[in-house]
Parts: sequence; structure tokens; C-alpha cells
Amino acid sequence: MASAANPADIQPRQVANKADKQALLDAIRMTLAVQSPAVRHNTQTFNRNRYAVTARLADYDALKDRAREIKQNAIANLPELLRQLETSVKANGGQFYLAKTAADANRYVCDVLTRHQAKLVVKGKSITSEEIKLNHAMEAAGVRVAETDLAEFILQVADEQPSHIVAPALHYSRERITALFKRKFATDLPLDTGEELTVFAREKLREQFIAADVGMSGANLIAADSGSLMLVESEGNIRMSCILPPVHIAIAGIEKVVPSRKDFGTFIELLPRSGTGQPLTSYVSILHPPLKASVFAAPGKQPKEAREFHLVLIDNGRSRMREDPALREALRCIRCSACLNSCANFETVGGHAFGGETYSGGIGGAWEAGTGKLLNARFSELCTGCSRCVNNCPVRIDIPWLNEVLRQRMNVEQSKSTAKSTFGAMTGSAPEDRVAPLQKQFFANYSSQARRATRFASLSNALTNLPFVRGLMESAVGLDRRRKLPPFPKHTWEELYRSEPNPTTARPGLPKVLMLADVFTNYGSPERGMAAIRLLRKVGFDIELSLALADGRAAISQGMIATAREQARGLAAMLLPHLDRGEIICVLEPSVLAMLRFDFAHLVDEATWAKFTLAKVLEPMQLVWSAKPELAGLFPASRSPHGTRVFYHSHCQQRTCNAAQETVEVLRACGFDIVTSSVECCGMAGSFGYKREYYELSMAVGEDLFAQVRAAEQDGPRTLVASGTSCHEQLWAGMGREVVHPAELLMSTVEVSRLSRS
Ligand code: SF4
Ligand code: SF4
Repeated sequence: MASAANPADIQPRQVANKADKQALLDAIRMTLAVQSPAVRHNTQTFNRNRYAVTARLADYDALKDRAREIKQNAIANLPELLRQLETSVKANGGQFYLAKTAADANRYVCDVLTRHQAKLVVKGKSITSEEIKLNHAMEAAGVRVAETDLAEFILQVADEQPSHIVAPALHYSRERITALFKRKFATDLPLDTGEELTVFAREKLREQFIAADVGMSGANLIAADSGSLMLVESEGNIRMSCILPPVHIAIAGIEKVVPSRKDFGTFIELLPRSGTGQPLTSYVSILHPPLKASVFAAPGKQPKEAREFHLVLIDNGRSRMREDPALREALRCIRCSACLNSCANFETVGGHAFGGETYSGGIGGAWEAGTGKLLNARFSELCTGCSRCVNNCPVRIDIPWLNEVLRQRMNVEQSKSTAKSTFGAMTGSAPEDRVAPLQKQFFANYSSQARRATRFASLSNALTNLPFVRGLMESAVGLDRRRKLPPFPKHTWEELYRSEPNPTTARPGLPKVLMLADVFTNYGSPERGMAAIRLLRKVGFDIELSLALADGRAAISQGMIATAREQARGLAAMLLPHLDRGEIICVLEPSVLAMLRFDFAHLVDEATWAKFTLAKVLEPMQLVWSAKPELAGLFPASRSPHGTRVFYHSHCQQRTCNAAQETVEVLRACGFDIVTSSVECCGMAGSFGYKREYYELSMAVGEDLFAQVRAAEQDGPRTLVASGTSCHEQLWAGMGREVVHPAELLMSTVEVSRLSRS
């Protein structure tokens, strides 16, 4: 597909399928230009509300565990549950149809409509019906379809696909809805408030409800033991679609089946809280169709025939997903949208860029691939692996891992070339990964390339400052020339460590610590690493620096799982003797901390992983806080050349590891006046912000963070402090000034500042 010149002219449906990468890039341009303010406002409101409402849940973790267990067991026993459900539905007097494909489902529904000579169907929100393109099938059969959910109504008028799995028209501002209605309905009515718009839509929809022959709904869950449907909504239109017309057709994926109605309670507690951040939605219906109440008859009209109920369950690739060791995980999804709302990239572009024809967000790739073609999941490239969604998912799905697997599969679908395999062999890709695009192999092998570049640091820095070299790198490996590159140091962290004597004696009672020489600090900011070592020694720790070995982080983020596995296994072998001796592993770079805490589960063998789950793997400030030193005396903020006013941005993965709060506590205890960021991610996310295709998106995501810095500085400047390498780069790019690590800030109170960049 050719790129349209003006992003505002791109229609969402034109770029819904992103199998062609150009569609993804155009979709990013379009959403940044047109939709971003509304998407940001709505997702961030949901996100803030979710944090507030889940914080008040005393048993949030236990609820999540229960939800995961229910779904896990249901997926494991799915064939039996489907048989039980069929019996229940038939015993209730309903009809049951299990559709193998989208076409089967559409054919069945159209046959029912034809039998009833239906002219008009009213529909409640159903993303599964979007998946199978049911509206098109019904319209082709001569049936009028009225979407009754306000958001779906807007999309039907605009002819757009949903951009969010819970709030499908979340990308529309009120002003854009007003303009749309005025244009499409040619009305002069005042439609300038939410209330006026809702009244206008409701009047149109009421007529449809009364005239409809058939009502259609989805289902949030279905109980196998009773055939009951659970429906959670905020407008009441789904309930009316199920109740008013004489014929009700419910359509859902087979993964919505749970054993019993008793299981609904857990999800009624979790779904609205996780999605919109409400303790409960306005309408929760548990229906047991076909209903016994008599059929509605409009005033002056004959009552219609007796009620009829059809449950259409759709497979459409789900059984295949169930057999797939990675995609199986996605079947647990309850479509709450927490992973969309807590994702910085999604918050910036929404589902018309970070989404496909039906499903969107971090989980959307698995669904598009599972129910369609692998390349339809290309938008999952926008998952940076920041991991912010993981703790927010009520069924604990490891969404970044799903996307890494999809990326790996898409790499394999690429054609082989001598250039790729030679480049891979030179840079250190595992043989299986040498089919990956050059850009991915370039970023995946940061470690080997940085090692070479650091050996000749002056030359490397001089070359990477030459515009024609940057141009060459941009065209060969997609490294955006606008992104400033940090200089390679003359000496690595390992070298600085070896050259510095240790004059301090360890404080009795403190454990031995192995500081992991992560490759990002070793080759990128060794002075920062030394500041952390000096800090821990000053607190009294006996600390040793490990060898610098790649950990797999850079490779896994490119979907080069075989390379990541080789590297993770090498690092684990080096660390195991230290773990066996009960030493603490300290990790400065938060993305590597997350690697050891979570990602190794997928990369090392079971016995090794069992040791890592028992090990103490901590971030430096966690160690400082745990030692309970007299912080105000050791590191008095008043003596820092940076001043006492600081703005601190913790790293996304550091927060997922619950390893950020200690930094705030330590800085406060030393006397710093600290303002913290509240963004989910700075937008840099390792290599993501370096890539030519995603540079604009990365900077747009960063804008929220930069705005928070500006707001915090309204009463005077603050020193920028950040824990992650990527966050340093992004703040440096966005604010144009130096950023220090918390360890550097603390050590500045006791020694001449040794900032790595001046
Ligand atoms: S890992 Fe981060 S980028 Fe990926 S889906 Fe989750 S929140 Fe979004
Ligand atoms: S993956 Fe988890 S957080 Fe995302 S929609 Fe599904 S259940 Fe919700």
C-alpha cells in the first residue's frame, strides 16, 4: 500500500489490516495526527480509575489468582464443558450451534433470520461478531442491522472498526462526534453536549428496539452447568436487545465458557474494575434464556410469537490456539482492556494503530494471529515489552511474552538472505535467528557491537557523529538519525572496577553482593555503575562486580528467542555458583532486573529457574534501603551540587518488579525534595525509540513525561533523576539536559560529581 500524503485523509478501515507494514506506519501517522488527544484522555482516565479502585480491594491478588485458575481449568476442560453446555441450553429450550469457522457462524445466523423473515436486527456490543464480520453477512442477506451500543452506533455511522475492546469509539472526542452526526444526519439540532448527543442517538435507537425482529448479543461469560449468560454493560442496550425482540441470538467465542454460574462472581468483581475502573458497571445481567416473560408488544400492535433463543459458539481458530503452547495463554483473556489502558503506546495511538481489524492492544496480536493470519498481528511490533500491563491483567497473562513469540514467528516468515545470515553470524545471532531483518539483528546484538565499538571508543564516537555515517546506519539498519547517540566510554565498567581500589570494610551482618555488570551499563554508562558500587560500599556492603555478559534482553525484544536463550543460559551459568552460596545479585539496569525476575522463566531450564525464583535479585536502592543506614547523615541532600529539588522517573520494568518505591524512600530520607513521574513508560523502551519507523511515536509517548517535568518545575528547576538507561536517553532527548542516576545523585553528596556526560 502506498503512503497517503496527508495523515488526516487516511480512513481507519484503509489501515485496519496491518499485514503490510506500510499500513501500520500510515496508521501511526493518522492516529497521531487525528485521534491521539481523545485516546490519551480516555485511556488515561480509565487507567487512573483502575489504580484507584483496585487499590481499595483487599483481596485483589487473591481475586486475580482465582480468576486465572477458573479460566485455566475451563480451557483445560473445554471439550467437556462444551458438551455440558449444549445439554444445558437444550434442556432450557434453547438451540445450540458450535461454528467451526466464521462462515459457518454467519450461515447459521442468516438461516435463523431468513426463517423468521427478519427485516431488522438490534445488536448489543459484540467483538466476536466483528471478528466474523457478521454485520456484512446479515446485510448481504437483506437484513438491516442496528448497533445499539452508543459507541458501536457512532462507528456504524462513521464506518470504522473499533479502536478499543471495551470502548470501541474511544478515539472520538465529543466535538468529532458532533461533527459526524451533523454531517451524516444533516441535522441542525444542537448536539454540543454529551447529553444532547445521547438523547439524539437514543431516540433513533428506541425506534429500532421497538421494530426489531431479532435481538443479538455477545456474552462476557457462559455457564456450562446452567446455560446462563453473564452480560456486563454500562448502557442497558444489551439487556434490551436480549429481552425486547422475540428471538435472541447470543454469539460468543468458545473460550467464554466457564463451569458454573458460581464462577461469575469473581469476574463481576474484576471486569469493571479492570476495564473502566468502576467498582461495578450500571447493568450486570445474568440471563437464563429463553426468557419466560411474555414477549414485548408495541402499543396497538399484535404480540409477537413465542420467544426463541440460539447460542452460537464460535471456534474460528480457538481450538488451534488451545493446542499452541504460547497462544493458549490468550484464551484466558476476559477482554477487560486493562492491558490497553496501562500501555503507554496504546494510550498515545489507540487501537487504530496498535490494533488490527478486530482486536487491539498488547493482547490483540495473539487474537488477530489466532483467529486469522500471523501477519495480521504485525501491529504487535508496537509492544515494547515494557511489561506495565502484566500486573494489571486480572488473569495474569504474560502479554509481552506473547508478543515476543509472535515477533519470532514473523521473523521466521521473512525470506532468507546471505546478507542477513552473514550479518547474524558476525554479530552473534543464533543460527535460527539469522533470518530476522537486519534491523532486528542489529539491535538484538547490542552487546557484541558495543564491545567492539568501546575498544576503539574515540574512533567510534567520531564516526557516529558524521552525518553520512548516520544516514548509512539509517538506511541499512533503520537507526533513526534524529536520535542522539550516547558516546561510547573509553573504559568499560569492568575496567573501571578493576582499576579502583576498595578502601572500605564491609559492615558486619550485611550479606555478600554480586553486582551484575549488565552490558548496557558496562558499555553505555560505566561511571553510573561505579557510582552504584561506591554507594553500596559506603553503606557497608561487600560487593564484587561480575563479568559483563549479555543477558538476552536486547535479543528477546526483537523476537530473537534462540539468541536470547543462548545468552540467558550463559549468564545463568555464571550466576548459579553465587546463588548457591546465598549471595545477593544486585542489578542496576531495571530491564535486566526484570529479565532475571520474570523473563528467565521462558529461557532457562526448569531447575535453573527454580533457583532464580528463590534467589534475592535486587535493585541497588532496594539494597540501600534494606541496610537501614543513617541516610541523612551519610548522604545529606544539602551537600549535593545538584541541589535538593529533584524530579524522579522510575523505569517501567522497575515498577513491574515492585522495585521503585525504595528509591523514593531513600532520596526522601536523605532530604531531597522529590516529585515523581506517573507515566507508564517514557516511550524509549530500549531500541524502540531508536527505530526510524517508531521515532515519532516514541517522542509522542515521551511528551507526557516531559509535560510532567515542566509542570513540576513551575516553581523552579529540578534535577532530572532516572533509574533506567532508556529513560536517561529519552529525558535527555526531550528536555535537552543531563539526567543522573539516583546512585550518582547520592554519591554527589560525598564526592566531586563524576557525571558521565558533560
Ligand atoms: S508490555 Fe508494555 S508495550 Fe507491551 S502491551 Fe504491555 S504495556 Fe503495552
Ligand atoms: S489480556 Fe488481560 S488485561 Fe488484557 S484484556 Fe485480556 S484479561 Fe484484560
